[in-house]
Amino acid sequence: VDPAWSIRGTVVRGYGRGSKELGIPTANLDAESLRGSLGEAVTGIYAGWASVGRSSEVYPMCMSVGFNPVFKNKQRVCEPWLLHEFDQDFYGEEIRLLVCAYLRPEADFVSVQALVDRIHEDAAITRRALQDPLFAALKGDAFLAPQE
Ligand code: ADP
Ligand code: MG
Repeated sequence: VDPAWSIRGTVVRGYGRGSKELGIPTANLDAESLRGSLGEAVTGIYAGWASVGRSSEVYPMCMSVGFNPVFKNKQRVCEPWLLHEFDQDFYGEEIRLLVCAYLRPEADFVSVQALVDRIHEDAAITRRALQDPLFAALKGDAFLAPQE
């Protein structure tokens, strides 16, 4: 089996919907890279591994795949939250994602707090899921290493 799906792109400015203010920054990838890598991906929340720029550090990540809220067309976007405290932002850097597992469909929430709580639950589930030996092994996948 090939459980992982890989995405490589550049981190661009998002929609400024204040996710960082909620303690949940989500990186946006450039549209060009997503055209090829998102394909017909089912919308919802996924768990996987991520690395950024020239660093070979690999972090757990939880990401949503949804429809672009700005352009009302069928363009999909993905927004990974890397489960790590970074010292600074990484706009303009390359980001590499290895998507391992589907967690749940998108949902509506009665309040912002309910949404934030659910995302924290998703993060906990992500960390647990990535302990599966099949997924844990992918942390060392060559795709996540920066290229020379
Ligand atoms: P935007 O609307 O531009 O996407 P966000 O509030 O969602 O802004 O913050 C995302 C940005 O924060 C990323 O592009 C990245 O540069 C930075 N960032 C810092 N820490 C993280 C993290 N743990 N996960 C994702 N992005 C992070
Ligand atoms: Mg964002």
